Amino acid sequence: MTFLFINESRGSTVEQIWYIFKGNELVVCHSSAAKLPTTSDIEIISDKYVNKGVISIGDRDKSETPNEFWAEIPSDVVLPSGMITVGLREVGSLLGEQIFYRAARAYQLMNWSERYVFCMSCGDRLEPSLVDNCKTCPTCGSVFYPPVSPAVIVAVEREGKILLARNASFPPKRYSVIAGFVEPGESFEDAVRREVREEVSIEVKDIKYFGSQPWPFPHSIMVGFTAKWASGELEPDGREILDAGWFSPNEMPDLPPGVSIARKLIDNFRHSRSVEP
Ligand SMILES: [Zn+2]
Repeated sequence: MTFLFINESRGSTVEQIWYIFKGNELVVCHSSAAKLPTTSDIEIISDKYVNKGVISIGDRDKSETPNEFWAEIPSDVVLPSGMITVGLREVGSLLGEQIFYRAARAYQLMNWSERYVFCMSCGDRLEPSLVDNCKTCPTCGSVFYPPVSPAVIVAVEREGKILLARNASFPPKRYSVIAGFVEPGESFEDAVRREVREEVSIEVKDIKYFGSQPWPFPHSIMVGFTAKWASGELEPDGREILDAGWFSPNEMPDLPPGVSIARKLIDNFRHSRSVEP
């Protein structure tokens, strides 16, 4: 997939869709209903772009013209009326899950494009590839792709209750399922067992795949699982996890909002126990 420095106006009649970031927030048109900026909307702010690139070019074999782009504007730019910014975590609730995924892609490509400038092997300046979504080094030939860091997230169940924990980084009173990054040499299942053991000192069994979700904070993918308690009693590590408990469907604490896979795992548990989320 071609990625950078394509002239987005090469005679296209396809409506362009723009994922414009002001700081860490996405610019959204908000007059009657919320929507992403399109070709006609961006004229008033496109002169403020400090960087821009292509998100997708459609199907290369059919010679489709690119129609999705990212751009960055300085955080002190005053937006025209009818445009607001929303945090990436709120995009799913406001514009739907699929747009959240595209915004996640846009945000990660933007950050990667800006931060990965020099070759990590020889130090020369990288060039964007014209044939793939990567950068290449003209001196030593090294190829660099945008990083994606997998993390596991797991809903553990014991006797009709779900394990929810309070992470030190959460807002006050918020609880969620256990999550953590996969380490080198681990399977996803190994990572699930290790994270649960490290964070709350219990062992789990019957680990089953649930689903996955791109998570652009900063360039992760959350891989979700369900599991059953096997042994041990809850002992939060006191560092990352401040509190943990087993919760029945009718006594849920404050939960993660929106379309996060954490919330989907919790809602799946509640639904399986016949309680409306
Ligand atoms: Zn090099």
